[in-house]
Order: sequence, then C-alpha cells, then structure tokens
Amino acid sequence: MKRVGITGGMGCGKSTVVNEFRRLGVPCFVSDIVASGYYYDFDFLDDLRRLLGDEVFLDDGTVDKKAVATKVFADKALLQGLNALVHPRVMEDFSHFCKIHASSPYVLFESAILYDYGFDRLMDKVICVYLDLDERLRRLSQRDGVGEDAIMARISNQLPAEEMMLRADYVILNYEGNPRRRQVEYIDKLLKQ
Ligand code: ADP
Repeated sequence: MKRVGITGGMGCGKSTVVNEFRRLGVPCFVSDIVASGYYYDFDFLDDLRRLLGDEVFLDDGTVDKKAVATKVFADKALLQGLNALVHPRVMEDFSHFCKIHASSPYVLFESAILYDYGFDRLMDKVICVYLDLDERLRRLSQRDGVGEDAIMARISNQLPAEEMMLRADYVILNYEGNPRRRQVEYIDKLLKQ
C-alpha cells in the first residue's frame, strides 16, 4: 500500500479534490479534521492549557479556537509549540489509519503543511493542487466570509504554492472549467499501477 500526500495552499481546492478521490473509493485521511478531534481529548487539553494559558478556554471549558489562532499566528514560538502537540498525534493516528486500510492500493494523507514539516518524507508520492494566489483569495473570501488581510496572515505561514507545485510528483490545476475529475481519475490510475 502506497502512502500518498496531497497538499496545496489554503483555498486551492484540496478538500474538493480529496472528495473526488473519495468518490473513487480511496481511503482519505484529512489531518485538519482528525486534529480538530483533539480539542475533545483531555490529555491534549491539559497540554494546550500549559502552552497557551487559561485565556484560550471558554467558561464552559471548551477551547476558543479563534483565540488559539490569534495567539499562535502572532507568535512563531507558540505556533511551533502547538505543532509539537498536534503533529506526533496526527502521525500516530495516520499510522493506525494505514493499518486499517492495508489492503488498499494506496491511501491519501491531506495536509496544507505537508512540506513545511517534512511529512512528505513519510509519503511515497505527493500530489499538489494548484491555483494562483488571486483566485485563492477570491474563493476564500467567498468561502469563509473574511477579509483578505486575515487570509494573507495565514497564507504567509505556509510554503508558497509554487514551491509545493515544483516539489510534487503530480500537480492538479484546479481552475474553473478544468477537467478536475479527469485529472483525478488519471492520477488514480497511475497510483494503482
Ligand atoms: P482547500 O481545502 O484547499 O482550502 P477548498 O476545497 O475548500 O480549498 O476550496 C476553496 C473554495 O473554492 C471552496 O469554496 C470550493 O467550493 C471552491 N472551489 C474548489 N474548486 C473549485 C473549482 N474548480 N471551481 C470553482 N470553485 C472551486
């Protein structure tokens, strides 16, 4: 079974492309979704409180994710600290996921920060979904209803999309009108060979 990473800058259409692979029956591990489950895990919450303090918790004990984002995106050391809590857990869960799907020809691992933290070294192949920055900003402000400054603050923490594209084994161009489904079916065929 191959481990295949799928990456791309925020707003380039990773989730949309992953859904196409899912439609073909490919097991897809979405790091963001898995990681959001950690906010219900007491051990993780204890670690988070030690790192970021009481101010990222609401009165009912749940995490104020906006406060977390504001803190970590304003301070690189805190972002690193949060990553050190999240990444090993993600890799452990992915390894479990691979065991469950060991009979599949390949599994997908979706992460926007695959290259930033060396997850690519754990993959046999990497797919990059690409879209230029202007179009990503347009789609993200529509999707999330937030201003371009807030989006740029997050994007600037990620590797440039062009670099991801150059390093990947396969590139999917996700422009409107492009045959996204055909690109996915073609890569799926190659990965199953
Ligand atoms: P990512 O997961 O990379 O952040 P999404 O898959 O959420 O990106 O896509 C960002 C936005 O762009 C979403 O609102 C999605 O519906 C839209 N979108 C994705 N692919 C296309 C496309 N080919 N044409 C038009 N809109 C698209």
